Amino acid sequence: MALTHVVLLGPPGAGKGTQAKQIIDKLGLVHLSTGDILRDEVSRQTELGKTAKGFMDRGDLVPDQLIIDMIRGRIEAATAGFLLDGFPRTAAQAEALSEFATIDVVLNIGLAREEVVRRLTGRRVCRGCGEIYNLTFNLAEGETTCADCGGELYQRDDDKAEVIENRYDVYEKSTAPLIDFYKKLGVLRTLDGSAGSECVFSEIIGILTA
Ligand code: ADP
Ligand code: ADP
Ligand code: ZN
Repeated sequence: MALTHVVLLGPPGAGKGTQAKQIIDKLGLVHLSTGDILRDEVSRQTELGKTAKGFMDRGDLVPDQLIIDMIRGRIEAATAGFLLDGFPRTAAQAEALSEFATIDVVLNIGLAREEVVRRLTGRRVCRGCGEIYNLTFNLAEGETTCADCGGELYQRDDDKAEVIENRYDVYEKSTAPLIDFYKKLGVLRTLDGSAGSECVFSEIIGILTA
């Protein structure tokens, strides 16, 4: 039976968003990225967006209850299955999630701090379609537009050196403990995020369709 309640876990820059886009194209799960939802709230200047922005710009986590209230209805509405990207990120979020959904598998993508810093410094995102690029591996020198839609490429406000270091610290302190939490539940699968993205992708598809 295919696994349809899926969590992507891993430090910032591990490749969660990159993998998520390909997984949903192939398997038709609903992609729920709390980071993407929050950035949309920020750009629309909603109350939630105004509150979240300060936390995000510093690389800190937005308070648990705001995140849980934001994501819960979307998860419950995804009756054909979901791919959670960036949630849960704390023990409290994982506990809350377990009360309204069962998780089939947690794909834990690991990546060392030095590589996280290198990747996030070079990350560029399309304003039009959200496609994710990297200066060091799939963007030609000086390229400023998206190959898919012609949209403008931008650097996220939180992809700056000082903020990146804090985000990794926050990951280690608040999110990494979830590895053990899901290991104990017997649903954890660990992947090497430093491998090429096609390689990580085929491993994931193998797990999800086994
Ligand atoms: P996350 O969602 O986990 O923060 P992203 O998918 O945004 O990670 O990837 C972070 C950066 O690393 C992006 O610039 C992306 O293009 C690049 N990237 C993603 N996967 C790989 C990979 N396997 N090898 C090299 N670079 C990658
Ligand atoms: P990345 O995968 O590169 O770390 P995300 O796009 O997932 O980035 O998240 C960006 C920021 O949004 C986080 O640094 C945090 O401030 C906020 N955020 C996203 N998801 C959560 C969450 N589940 N709990 C708390 N804050 C979150
Ligand atoms: Zn685009």
